[in-house]
Amino acid sequence: MSYMSGLVCVACGARYAPGQAMWCPTCGLDEGILDVEFDLPAVRRSLTRAALATRPANHWRYRELLPFGADVEPVPREIGWTPMIEAPRLAAALGIGRLRLKDDSRSASASFKDRASSVGVTLAVAAGASDIACASTGNAASSLAHCAAAAGIRANIFVSERIPDGKLAQLLAYGARVFRVRGTYDEAWRLCMRACETFGWYNRNCAVNPYLVEGKKTGGLEIAEQCADDPTEWVAASIGDGCSIAGVWKGLRQIHEAGVTDGRPRMLGVQAEGVAPIAKALRGGNYAPGADGATYADSIDCPVPRNWRKAMNAIRESDGACVTVTDDEIRRAVRETGRLTGVFAEPAAAAAVAAIATARRDGILGANASVVAVISGNGLKDIAGARSAVGEPHSITPDLDAVRRIVEKG
Ligand SMILES: *Cc1c(COP(=O)(O)O)cnc(C)c1O
Repeated sequence: MSYMSGLVCVACGARYAPGQAMWCPTCGLDEGILDVEFDLPAVRRSLTRAALATRPANHWRYRELLPFGADVEPVPREIGWTPMIEAPRLAAALGIGRLRLKDDSRSASASFKDRASSVGVTLAVAAGASDIACASTGNAASSLAHCAAAAGIRANIFVSERIPDGKLAQLLAYGARVFRVRGTYDEAWRLCMRACETFGWYNRNCAVNPYLVEGKKTGGLEIAEQCADDPTEWVAASIGDGCSIAGVWKGLRQIHEAGVTDGRPRMLGVQAEGVAPIAKALRGGNYAPGADGATYADSIDCPVPRNWRKAMNAIRESDGACVTVTDDEIRRAVRETGRLTGVFAEPAAAAAVAAIATARRDGILGANASVVAVISGNGLKDIAGARSAVGEPHSITPDLDAVRRIVEKG
């Protein structure tokens, strides 16, 4: 049995039984995203700190808060429980009291998306599916391809033309069937939806499949558990479609409601300045999807966020804030994070660090603020993007004097 108690539509509040619908039939696919609810009093009896202490170091340790029962065998096993890294030099550079990095760049396929994909593949395998599909700007795809290959099912991936080479190579290496769609991400997304219906593939698109955000929730559950004795005030995370920040917040909220941890941090969301419909709506404007600019941070280049309601709820419910950062600020955060912590973040991940600088400047964070930044993807995913941020090597002839001249310059 599972601890799920039902599904609720985020637009109209209608309720459904688990498994009854993928989205709200009244509100339709674009608006009627569902949220999974759990029997928290029952979770509370089973998910205790003492019980957690005996469980394996992966994200399946939170099985009471995951959308399947104890009879289901999760695959692949080795997802989650990524390190929480103390970052005192970066905290000082940003002008805050304490910074920890939740380093999902070390996840199996090198991004936070493994949390959702592994839940998707687990559910697909449990349902007897042979195929699973998603549309993605990159990481959801490479992550799904990894999890599907590990579990022995086929991944069908719809990517937009702008996918960075590193992510594309990763997909092909995991043996996925890759459709490179000559069109926008939104067009790739719609095509994937139709293909899932037509061919009966299991649908891993996060904003549509309500169970996948439950996988992203483990990012928040782990942050709460890893900081249980020393809670953080803020959690910074970047926003594309909005599923990640919504998932992290839900995890932080539920583990608190389950009585495992005290207090709940506030969410600091961030979008790229050129593609910021959620940040703008939270600043008092109307929600108007579409971009008036662009960003090189491909993983958050989502002009039509699928899960904007859940993302906005996460910021509002947590008494949080949402800022925007420029591409130059992101590039700077890539360099500073690498140099001052040894963590190589992809642009969308470094945006969470850039957000701290902005929030500090705007007075949202004080000089003593304590923040966890979610490092959602690895810098090796997009070499061209990284190269545009990090400068050039010293090009020299093979002689020691050439080295000396550079060393003496400091
Ligand atoms: C997907 C992704 C995000 C944003 O997550 P959403 O669910 O789209 O909001 C941030 N960073 C990285 C590295 C990602 O892959």
